[in-house]
Amino acid sequence: MTGHLDGNALAGPLREIFAVDLTAAIGTCAHCRARGPLAEATVYTHAPGEVARCTRCGEVVLRLVHGPDRTWLDLRGLLNVEIRPPA
Ligand SMILES: [Zn+2]
Repeated sequence: MTGHLDGNALAGPLREIFAVDLTAAIGTCAHCRARGPLAEATVYTHAPGEVARCTRCGEVVLRLVHGPDRTWLDLRGLLNVEIRPPA
C-alpha cells in the first residue's frame, strides 16, 4: 500500500471545478499576495494567447495559449484560486 493514487483520481474533482466560470474565482497573486476575482485582472490579448496581469503589481498571473488541437493553461503566477460552486 503506497497511500496514494495516480492522477486519474482527480478526474471527478477537476471536472467539477472547470465546469464553473473561473472569472468569478478569487485568485491570490504569487508575487504581491493581492487577492481578487480573476475578472478584475488586466488582460492582454495581443499575445500568442491571453495573458492576465495582477492589477496591483503588474506581474503575470495567468497565461492561456491555444493550439490547433489543445490549450495550455499556466497558473504559476497565482498562489491559489478560490473556487465556489454555483449557487
Ligand atoms: Zn500582484
